[in-house]
Amino acid sequence: EKAIAVMTSGGDAPGMNANVRAIVRTAIAKGCRAYVVMEGYEGLVRGGPEYIKQFSWEDVRGWSSEGGTNIGTARCKEFRERAGRLLGALHLIEAGVDALIVCGGDGSLTGADLFRSEWPSLLQELKETSKITSEQYTRYKHLNICGTVGSIDNDMSTTDATIGAYSSLDRICRAIDYIEATANSHSRAFVVEVMGRNCGWLALMAGIATSADYILIPEKPASSREWEEQMCDIVTKHRSRGKRTTIVIVAEGAIANDLTPISPNDVHKVLSQRLKLDTRVTTLGHVQRGGTAVAFDRILATLQGVEAVNAVLESNPDTPSPLIAINENKITRKSLVESVRQTKSVADAIQAQDFKKAMELRDTEFVE
Ligand code: ADP
Repeated sequence: EKAIAVMTSGGDAPGMNANVRAIVRTAIAKGCRAYVVMEGYEGLVRGGPEYIKQFSWEDVRGWSSEGGTNIGTARCKEFRERAGRLLGALHLIEAGVDALIVCGGDGSLTGADLFRSEWPSLLQELKETSKITSEQYTRYKHLNICGTVGSIDNDMSTTDATIGAYSSLDRICRAIDYIEATANSHSRAFVVEVMGRNCGWLALMAGIATSADYILIPEKPASSREWEEQMCDIVTKHRSRGKRTTIVIVAEGAIANDLTPISPNDVHKVLSQRLKLDTRVTTLGHVQRGGTAVAFDRILATLQGVEAVNAVLESNPDTPSPLIAINENKITRKSLVESVRQTKSVADAIQAQDFKKAMELRDTEFVE
């Protein structure tokens, strides 16, 4: 009888609970024991039954729709250090866990990938310092680890959608619909800042869904003069056709092509000073994370949870650790290492001002 543990880590995302539910129940249905690690990597570093808990079928009842993550998440500094990961390894072995499924964003999965690659040397050290027995050393020689992607930003390469992204997008669109009504009443312009550090997916998709006038994202930056001119031209054209509202969406990580950040206040300044529009800034903030998961995220999280358990049960030391993805509407397995590497290279390409490469690596079709 194997023991499979699941944890959620990094920024919370709607659908994480549905993912945990599916993993716990699939594990039990397949004759395994199910565990949850509370508070992300923090729970691994602390260890013990308070943080690594066995879960029953009933423990996850009703979790399919709930937002956030009921097993907690945290940012954990200690796990970034080898000493923290050594404790994490010891605590997993003490709890008798054979496989770990991590649901999180690119940071969390980078940590998972590092943990996996370091595992043999961590185990060696635990054996040499007599923290574990030779039997434990042999039994837990390989870390069976698998990633599912929970992130509202939809910022992981190799998968078309991350758990939480469509719920967040839905929330943003509703918020902009509300703003649209008041903007229309007063004939105002609104600059709306949405989340997305290196990834403009939320801003871009919300812009399409709400017919925003202009969108600023990190992947396709222009010089300050270019975007200001272009935005003013477009807004002026729309206004001259009788449009009473102006909506400009700015991704949190929006930049100009010299990498200087573009803030909502910069956009506000241009709209109010150059176009003399009565302009307001709205930062949506954490409402973008809140609330229940949309149907797509519940389904994605459930199907990927089942697949994650299948993947860890089929894993052997020679196969690379998987990341559960979705590609062209099919649930797929990708290499965790490769996905993490490719995701990091998008951020690197943006930093190197190679925006064409960033877009190619993003694997998204942009229409000029
Ligand atoms: P997200 O998973 O949403 O991208 P973070 O980037 O904050 O969120 O990562 C969540 C946690 O994952 C961190 O607090 C840390 O414990 C762990 N982590 C992130 N990057 C690394 C890394 N390079 N090495 C080890 N652990 C990491």
